[in-house]
Amino acid sequence: MNLNVGLNIDLSSTELAHYSRHIQLSQVGLVGQKKLKAASVLCIGAGGLGCPALNYLAAAGVGKIGIIDADVVEASNLQRQILYTQADIGQSKALTAQARLQAINPHIDIIAYPERFTADNAEKIASEYDIILDGCDNFSTRFLSNDVAYFLKKPLVYGAIFQFEGQVSVFDFSHNDATSRQQLDNGKQEILDEQGARDRTVERGVDNNATQEKRQSVESDLHAKSRSLPCYRCLLSNMPAPDAVPNCAEAGVFGVLPSIIGSFQAIEVIKYIVGVGDLLTGKLLHYDTLTHRSHTIKLAADPACPLCSEQATIKSIKQEQEAGCSIPTDSNPHHSTPNPEIMNLDVPTFINRMQANPSAKIIDIRQPEELDTYGAIQGHIHIPLNELPANLETLSPDDELLFYCQSGKRSLIALEFFLEQGYNPERIAHLEGGHMAWVREA
Ligand SMILES: [Zn+2]
Repeated sequence: MNLNVGLNIDLSSTELAHYSRHIQLSQVGLVGQKKLKAASVLCIGAGGLGCPALNYLAAAGVGKIGIIDADVVEASNLQRQILYTQADIGQSKALTAQARLQAINPHIDIIAYPERFTADNAEKIASEYDIILDGCDNFSTRFLSNDVAYFLKKPLVYGAIFQFEGQVSVFDFSHNDATSRQQLDNGKQEILDEQGARDRTVERGVDNNATQEKRQSVESDLHAKSRSLPCYRCLLSNMPAPDAVPNCAEAGVFGVLPSIIGSFQAIEVIKYIVGVGDLLTGKLLHYDTLTHRSHTIKLAADPACPLCSEQATIKSIKQEQEAGCSIPTDSNPHHSTPNPEIMNLDVPTFINRMQANPSAKIIDIRQPEELDTYGAIQGHIHIPLNELPANLETLSPDDELLFYCQSGKRSLIALEFFLEQGYNPERIAHLEGGHMAWVREA
């Protein structure tokens, strides 16, 4: 990330008025405000975390903001996803967020990608931005965000929520914290001394070779230091159980929590760009809304990390899976992708499969309280998602297994899990749209 790019840009009088409360802070000032305008941030996901983060980044004047999200607004989002209203239900989150943010700040560029963040588009899109903000709600996108940031050497601001608790960290793969600070100092000097900027640029070109050696030595030191910093994959062993991943498992989430965690993420992004304060690099901030207790722990790099250690086995983002979440296992954190053609069943096809094979097992993988609240498909077997691994023996590979959950997200995880266990892809399938679709259409 070159924090000097665009530092000689001007701010209009309207912009100066918009940003005046930031500019008044000596730690931000006009220099910091120009850095914000020169910076670009890609927000992966425009949900609970993305909404507040995007809101504050746009309001703060980050010059270019990308929003990638394939989802549409649902009624159940409105309890916490503060960029959307009743009128937006059924509309693209990325496009709706773009319009709302542009109304908040017309002085910045906002680019909407109403599509999934996948291994196919990740590198191309992420390479257009300085910083990546992880506002996603599933493991595989989180792994992908981590890997893309790692390979592109970009800082990743991570946030995650679980019911009443949240976490924030910064995985800085730019490996150049000090270099960034150096650039910031150069930038400050450049702006203070704008009169001579053009001359100095020429001078720097001449001076390049002389400073090259020093820079390489600094970078080498930093690289050595950076080896002690973790990536998201280093933390995998500390991840909650699959049923403890709120948006994935729909375990419920305290509405205010994502706004707090998403705002913490925005704070880290703005601090990174402006170059002020201590970042959560190599640290994990944990916050509990029920007790207002927070604590920060030091994170260590995993010497056996498949991505960032000497023993790395992941050599490119192409190896990563694109779809769905996954039940991580110690032996195999990589995932299998269900074949959408034969495994994603709409309601009529699901009914046909049930009727064609009366001995097919219809497996409801929701939490017990969801069955009480929403009802269930007649003849189902109830095994919550997180209990599937322990119940493998009761589900023979010879059986036909038809999974469903509330919205079709968790059942996709179940499919991936059973594929990993070697089950025949032609004998397992899930209900697309889940029980919600069933209630609408069956
Ligand atoms: Zn790692």
